[in-house]
Amino acid sequence: MKRTMPKIEKACPECNRPLVVRRQRASGSLFLGCSGWPEHCQHTEAIPESVRMQLSGAPRLEGF
Ligand SMILES: [Zn+2]
Repeated sequence: MKRTMPKIEKACPECNRPLVVRRQRASGSLFLGCSGWPEHCQHTEAIPESVRMQLSGAPRLEGF
């Protein structure tokens, strides 16, 4: 079963593309990244608390 990530109602301050939730491969921690990444834009920022709550309330993404 496929789960959708929460929608991020925020645009990239640099290029105005929507930001998306991304997961760092090494640490498994989540952050917001520009949807234009990596070709068009390298903007990233810390994930807002409200979004992190939604994510942690979801069933665990084991084997993800
Ligand atoms: Zn951007």
